[in-house]
Amino acid sequence: MENKIKRIKWLNGMLQKASYAYYGLDNPIMGDTEYDDLYDELQSLEGETGYILAGSPTQKVQGYVLDGFKKVTHTKPMLSANKTKDIKEIKRFLENNDFYCSYKLDGLTLIVRYKDGNFVQGITRGNGIDGEDVTEACRFIRNLPMQIPDKQDIELRGECVISWDEFKRINSTLETQYAHPRNLAAGTLRNLDLNIAKERNLSFIVFESVVPTFPNKYDGLTKLNEIGFECVGRCTGSVEDCVEAMQPEFYPYPTDGLIFELNDTELSKSLGSTSHHENCRIALKWEDELYETKLVDIKWNTSKSGLINPIAVFDPVDLDGAITTRATLHNISYIENLKLGIGDIVRVYRANMVIPKVHDNLTQSNTWELPTKCPSCGGSVEVRNENGSKTLHCSNPYCFSKLLGKLTHFVNKNAINIDGLSEQTLQKFIDLRWLRTFIDIYHLSEHKTEMYKIEGFGKKSVDKLLENIEKSRNTTLDRFIYSLSIPLIGRSASKTIAKYFGVGNAEGFYDTWNDFDFTTLEDFGDTMNKSMHDYFKDNYVMVSKLMNEFTFLNGEDNKAGVDLSDKTFVITGSLNCYKNREELVRAIEQLGGKVSGSVSSKTNYLINNDTESNSSKNKKAKELGVPIISEKDFINMIKI
Ligand SMILES: [Zn+2]
Repeated sequence: MENKIKRIKWLNGMLQKASYAYYGLDNPIMGDTEYDDLYDELQSLEGETGYILAGSPTQKVQGYVLDGFKKVTHTKPMLSANKTKDIKEIKRFLENNDFYCSYKLDGLTLIVRYKDGNFVQGITRGNGIDGEDVTEACRFIRNLPMQIPDKQDIELRGECVISWDEFKRINSTLETQYAHPRNLAAGTLRNLDLNIAKERNLSFIVFESVVPTFPNKYDGLTKLNEIGFECVGRCTGSVEDCVEAMQPEFYPYPTDGLIFELNDTELSKSLGSTSHHENCRIALKWEDELYETKLVDIKWNTSKSGLINPIAVFDPVDLDGAITTRATLHNISYIENLKLGIGDIVRVYRANMVIPKVHDNLTQSNTWELPTKCPSCGGSVEVRNENGSKTLHCSNPYCFSKLLGKLTHFVNKNAINIDGLSEQTLQKFIDLRWLRTFIDIYHLSEHKTEMYKIEGFGKKSVDKLLENIEKSRNTTLDRFIYSLSIPLIGRSASKTIAKYFGVGNAEGFYDTWNDFDFTTLEDFGDTMNKSMHDYFKDNYVMVSKLMNEFTFLNGEDNKAGVDLSDKTFVITGSLNCYKNREELVRAIEQLGGKVSGSVSSKTNYLINNDTESNSSKNKKAKELGVPIISEKDFINMIKI
């Protein structure tokens, strides 16, 4: 069960990625049949386990329609605050009135509504008059109460933000990193895939109460704090005191200034508003101070996914108290725009006094050079265009930094299927330099004595693992091809190839792939054909060595251990997938199952493509609680 749920989660992620690439980026990453196969597998696993993730592709219409949110009109227009960078102007504005100062949060403004004490709606700022209904995503904001005391009806304004800590954590897991927590918060909240909101710790920070209104706004926020809302960081005192006390690095959330607000609600109302801002508050924007320094290097780092990130290295510079020598350059396009060159004089700053950034380049020599080799493995590199910006990637499938992902895929249940080689264990073996390529897995036994000594391993589990590795030497061609992580070649494509050459005929495949035109196979296009040829051309020595580790078996691919013994099936109605009834019977019997002619209490499944029909067999099955499944359901059942 645990593995099935894991697989469901994986499928969700994969299908999500594929459909985003297809709809959102117009740049498909897999063929339609491959997609359908994965989709069908997900649907059947969901049916079997009863486990369905919120936002599963089986549960909603696909497609990234970014205006797919309902429009909602705001209770009162959402206006901006008047802004200044001059403290004197703040003082002129406040005169001698009672005021307080709060952080100006830098996220996505959000309005939340409660009825009878229950959270009922979340709306984005939108254009200020109408916002988007993001209620469902709001349910995943970690500090937003879903129910509040005293059955109150209230409406609050606040900012949906991601803390700096969480921003760093999430970015470290993403291939294309977000530039600022604001983009990340907005991207998360407005994503139609709610799983994403669930995994990222969004926070909601209240800054204004629309209903009810409190005579004294500062005290009002304190009251909201008391019933469980997180309210914005604020202070009172002189303007100078506030500016001194409210430094951005003291606050866990991103901010882009301070808000000075009149405390008295009646006075605030009497001042009214312009079409742009309310006259009861003013924002103090922080100025980013720029510092000149000399660029001494551009360093490139390969990430786990193979993306190679550029980093600017410059002469040490004191950025508001922190000696800094590095700043991210994001991607190739960013460097191109800056026209960088080693020795150039650049101006750097700490964005919102936190992240070091290169602001501009005073020299613009544009003499920088794109690496021709991966800094991690020395393999070849390629430039890709992602969302309009150019990024650099390592194209060596055996790049040290990519190894873990490849090995994890290689050992998975649908690939070579080695039980006991978890990601953690693989990482350990990589760190010990025991694993450099797939082949090394089959030589792990050489490290047996050392393995016994690894903490938490023990003789028994090591022996079991080595036994599982030995067992995996019996395999089929489709599993073998699938396990190699060849771009665009998924499970169904691997099966198609194996079906053509014969699942046990790895030799035949190896001898002919060079001259073989894969586009002659069903659902194979030119890019898949090229992908196959490129891969085997680049890796033919490795592949041939690896093949020698295996015995390729003919016959049914049943290594996943699908076992239908003790299962009795009844077949009725016409068939679409199997040629005829005999073929379906054979498939069941090969897996140890039985087929009988009539439905009884001993029947486990009735196979009938017309699951809704009122035939006598269907009726009987319903009476006895025997599941009625279609041919497709059956195929999914034995495919797992
Ligand atoms: Zn590399």
